[in-house]
Amino acid sequence: MKEIVVISGKGGTGKTSLTASFAFLSKNVVVADCDVDAADLHLVLNPKTISRGRFKSGNLAVIDPAKCISCGKCELLCKFEAVILNKKTGKYSVAETGCEGCGVCVRFCPVQAIGFPERDCGEWFVSEVSCGKMVHARLDSGAENSGKLVSLVRKKAKEEAEKSKAQLIIVDGPPGIGCPVIASVTGADAALIVTEPSLSGEHDLERVADLAKHFRIPIYVCVNKWDINPEKTRGIEQYCVDSGVFFCGKIHYDKNVTEAQVNGRTVVEYGEGACVREIINLWETLCRKIL
Ligand code: SF4
Ligand code: SF4
Repeated sequence: MKEIVVISGKGGTGKTSLTASFAFLSKNVVVADCDVDAADLHLVLNPKTISRGRFKSGNLAVIDPAKCISCGKCELLCKFEAVILNKKTGKYSVAETGCEGCGVCVRFCPVQAIGFPERDCGEWFVSEVSCGKMVHARLDSGAENSGKLVSLVRKKAKEEAEKSKAQLIIVDGPPGIGCPVIASVTGADAALIVTEPSLSGEHDLERVADLAKHFRIPIYVCVNKWDINPEKTRGIEQYCVDSGVFFCGKIHYDKNVTEAQVNGRTVVEYGEGACVREIINLWETLCRKIL
């Protein structure tokens, strides 16, 4: 079983549109949406949920007013100013958004009035889609630990791939180079970096390529909307040659991509332009290299 992660140094490069098209072109694969802060692959793959569960991570201090003797020690000790005194009632409580789950107040409360349950942070889903199975998740607004949720999505994708004997997992990674991206690429068999021909696209490509190289992940690069700046595209191709990275394709700008998104379809099933052929060629090249 192989795992390919589609990433980009920044959002808006067309990473998810490409991932959805790759999924549409495949049979018996597992697709994992690891962009848990803004998951949107499900909007075009129309998944039918077969199982789901809550994602819990970290802990939250909760004061039991029946046990609390209002000594104020927790307020004094909390470095994050998450403990609040209601001056009218004289009762203490913990602001959920302020609590960092350090556990200091729990440890030092003289009457053990503070509970420390796991924090409910989001939800994961396993679904059936036309190409096989899909795993995606939703982080609750304001919740943290997206890297941990990414790891959970990848773990569930692997379990589903084993169950269905799928040869490939296609991961839609998060944008950027932060913790969720690291959680998406570590241990993967290959990373496809989708970039666009702009100064920031070139810069972000180099940053995310350095990250993937650090984790010894074989890298493949493609340029989306290459014809909006052919000169910059040539620069990116040269960068790939100079840094020993495989340049595996470029895709024309095509207004059908936006229309496909608006209509909740993948680009390859919706459009007929040059871009469709290029996406198919790109996917075939990648499969030849990876599988
Ligand atoms: S330390 Fe315990 S008893 Fe004291 S105010 Fe906080 S919760 Fe109440
Ligand atoms: S667990 Fe830590 S951050 Fe949360 S209220 Fe207690 S002392 Fe503050």
